[in-house]
Amino acid sequence: MSRAGSVAELLDATHVRWCGPDCEQTVDCSFLHFPRRAPAPPPVRSVRSARPRYNKDTADLFSLMGGDGYRPGTPQVHEENLWPLLRTAMTKADDPATADQAYTDWTGAPASSASETVAFACRDSIQWMANWCGGQYADQPTAVHYIAFSTICDDLCIPPTDLVRGRFLMYGRSVADLAAAMDEQGWRRDGVHALLSLVRQYIVQYVEKVHDGLHPMLNSKPGVWDAVIYRTHTANTYGAAVVVRRVCKAGPVSWTSLMDSSICDAISMDLCKATMNVYQFDNHPPAAHENHEQRRKTAYHSLYLDLIDALVAAGAPDAIVHFGRAGFLFVQLQERYHERRLGHRLPLRPAMITHLTRLFGARPTDPLTDHLFLARRADQERTAL
Ligand SMILES: [Zn+2]
Repeated sequence: MSRAGSVAELLDATHVRWCGPDCEQTVDCSFLHFPRRAPAPPPVRSVRSARPRYNKDTADLFSLMGGDGYRPGTPQVHEENLWPLLRTAMTKADDPATADQAYTDWTGAPASSASETVAFACRDSIQWMANWCGGQYADQPTAVHYIAFSTICDDLCIPPTDLVRGRFLMYGRSVADLAAAMDEQGWRRDGVHALLSLVRQYIVQYVEKVHDGLHPMLNSKPGVWDAVIYRTHTANTYGAAVVVRRVCKAGPVSWTSLMDSSICDAISMDLCKATMNVYQFDNHPPAAHENHEQRRKTAYHSLYLDLIDALVAAGAPDAIVHFGRAGFLFVQLQERYHERRLGHRLPLRPAMITHLTRLFGARPTDPLTDHLFLARRADQERTAL
């Protein structure tokens, strides 16, 4: 994958490792889609997690996201094959003119340097791990490093080829160093899934940032499943769910439950962001649509309620059900979202600086990233004049 000469080549190399060489890239391709089939109930009825109190029986008491309570039977099927959509967007990703967007700031709460942006993303990663795993949050520093790589591509526009070639570093670590640490610590299949999911995230995040037409295309349908799955890939909550299962020692979990939980984590975050008006300042509101916005909001909300119940019914462990509803917790607790709403950063507390040094190191970025970040900012300021 590090030999890929373009984003399109990297996409193919990553996909073939996920699906094998015979995938026909239809809506059954599980690299870009989620061909969901309801899981069989556990053989012996074993409830491993309590049903969340906010559920389809209580939802109509609240008006989250402007939704209209709960509507049963929201389709969990793709309306469109996402491959042609992504191939179209890929031409833009590999257009040389796009290179000038690399290392631009996408946080909505600009930092003064790349170094600060990376340090804040690592703060956010530590806080996410705490909200997902509680006291075990730092048991495996490699897991926290993984979440940091997954966070920073939301905040900075990083060419995915820079990730896999080791050009982009966090606290001196490349993604190859991360892979080596996972290997050494026996992550095996979890490591492979988490890393492929991370590269997929970098590709879809990059495409989303450089191709304005992608979201209007995704959101052009009355249904929400296509947009929800793309959104889940941009958030890489699947990779995070793999990490959480591992750190919490939650035991085996089916692919369907991991995906259900990942989708719920992304939707619960979006519901809470909408409620707190973070979306007013965000780039890609997930249910946006000229004509069907209200219906799409209700569908988005209803999918969450269906899938969180499905997780409990499938006997998913508590850590995985908790992960699915964690957006209601972390959006309120983490400075990240308040900073986006306010449009400026809040200072790092001394205790957090100590945690960052302990878990990540002393120097967030290298001189080249610092330079590119400032050069792009200067370009943008010149263009704005
Ligand atoms: Zn495939």
